[in-house]
Amino acid sequence: MLDVKNLKMHFPVYGGILRRQVASVFAVDGVDIRVQAGETLGLVGESGCGKSTLGRAILQLYKNTAGSVNFDGKELTDMSVTQLRDVRKDLQVILQDPGESLNSRHTVGRIIEEPLEIHNIGKDAKERKLRVLQLLDKVGLQEDAYHRYPHEFSGGQRQRISIARAIALEPKLIICDEAVSALDVSIQSQVLNLLMDLQKEMNLAYIFISHDLSVVRHVSDRIAVMYLGKIVESAQTDDLFEIARHPYTQALISSIPQADPNRKKTAKALQGDVPSPLSPPLGCHFHTRCPHATEKCKSQRPKLINYSSSENEHLVSCHLLED
Ligand code: SF4
Ligand code: MG
Repeated sequence: MLDVKNLKMHFPVYGGILRRQVASVFAVDGVDIRVQAGETLGLVGESGCGKSTLGRAILQLYKNTAGSVNFDGKELTDMSVTQLRDVRKDLQVILQDPGESLNSRHTVGRIIEEPLEIHNIGKDAKERKLRVLQLLDKVGLQEDAYHRYPHEFSGGQRQRISIARAIALEPKLIICDEAVSALDVSIQSQVLNLLMDLQKEMNLAYIFISHDLSVVRHVSDRIAVMYLGKIVESAQTDDLFEIARHPYTQALISSIPQADPNRKKTAKALQGDVPSPLSPPLGCHFHTRCPHATEKCKSQRPKLINYSSSENEHLVSCHLLED
């Protein structure tokens, strides 16, 4: 349903008295991903690795520098603003902070009704109100929410309002960008369960973006691990946790708090910060933090290669495996 190829998002950096372009930020640097109907692809990595930019480039909120985004047989990168508006019926987004994405001066009813109005769904106001009440029920909110304002709700309830708005047009794919990251752990799991229930009911596909690998594991069929604008490993969720092959993925997994203290750690915890995407390291982007880095890693960039012998791809970009 979604086929992203060689997507690049480079932001110009201007400087000097003449304000000429002096450099580029390589926020997304050649990413390929595919998502099928009804499936969840988790996109994980530390903050600043380009996950959110990738999400926005797929939605065409940012005009990509290169590459293609094919959604449901249509190429989005060539579309006009009006054509993209039509596509938004099928392609929605849920952001981290519903406080920011929900208009605080509008009632919840109006917030959820707005997309229905824009896309001329329902024959009149009465029918649209009925639809909104059904949506409120679907996301586990009471009818009286219709006349109330977002600030009257808790963080978890506000995220339910965003979800109701996102599913109002019965989309095919929703990009969830850190959708539960601002919530307490107990509320997180309620919202995740709601998202998974809606997925089954509506055959929704998700791209689930998060810095939190344990959250991503919980919801995803497949996971892609991103580092400095590139996918470094992607596999079925179970395969990834059973045999993580990229040193970065291994470090992310080993940094998840373990309930069982006797469980053997497979890799060292991550050290240092993600280097700046303004001047990413040559060779393998991860070599400045990798415990296995060799001379080759400093100069040659590893390719993303499928190392799986089964029908499920397991892509990894690391010289250790190539050799
Ligand atoms: Fe580490 Fe080299 Fe593999 Fe990069 S290519 S992850 S630096 S071993
Ligand atoms: Mg982000």
